[in-house]
Amino acid sequence: MRRVRTLLGIAVALALTVAAASRPAQDSTTRSGRASYTFAVTNPDGSPARWDPCTPHPVIIDPSLAPPGDLHRLRTALAELDSATGLRFRVAGTTTRVPTADSGRRPPPGSPHRWPPILIGWRPSSFFAGGEVGETTSTWLRSGPPGGPQVYVSARVFFDANTSVPVSRATLMLHELGHLAGLGHANSSAVMRPDLGPAGPTRYGPGDLTGLRALGRGGCLAVPPAG
Ligand SMILES: [Zn+2]
Repeated sequence: MRRVRTLLGIAVALALTVAAASRPAQDSTTRSGRASYTFAVTNPDGSPARWDPCTPHPVIIDPSLAPPGDLHRLRTALAELDSATGLRFRVAGTTTRVPTADSGRRPPPGSPHRWPPILIGWRPSSFFAGGEVGETTSTWLRSGPPGGPQVYVSARVFFDANTSVPVSRATLMLHELGHLAGLGHANSSAVMRPDLGPAGPTRYGPGDLTGLRALGRGGCLAVPPAG
């Protein structure tokens, strides 16, 4: 099992840290020589780690610290992510349970072989490393025998609840959900650049959409049981 942690920073914060054993993210380079999208995790053949496109992925929201307007922004961003990828991230309910360090990695109680649903919530600024305002932590495994593709099985997404940070809330949602789907950072991306500002886009850009489409393409993936 490997985990990837992606952090959105303001200004100069380095915002993507991948497990040491991972390979460099694949990218798509434009004529200007700058990547328009990258994948957070890639397989030996360069294809991206993906969510199984053949089943819906339940999402549980912890709204306890959500600032006004963010729940609506999140639902809008989830709909845009589904549209861009063809994947199905479905809100299955809410929780007020304070996530622990292991949330999103352990099977839910009473369901030892099912992966926990994706958890999305808001945290105080003190939760984040210096300069970051969002964090996505994903868990993935190999699907099938050795050499098989990597498949995402669970994730946690947190946004900074402090609305005074100088970043577009709508862009922040799209950015972290891009990580959730499997995108890495790209400097020439509209949304997945690591240093978003107060006036960011409210839709994915062409490079983002190309990467997101690739993450939703391909056959069904076998999801190993949890536990
Ligand atoms: Zn990021």
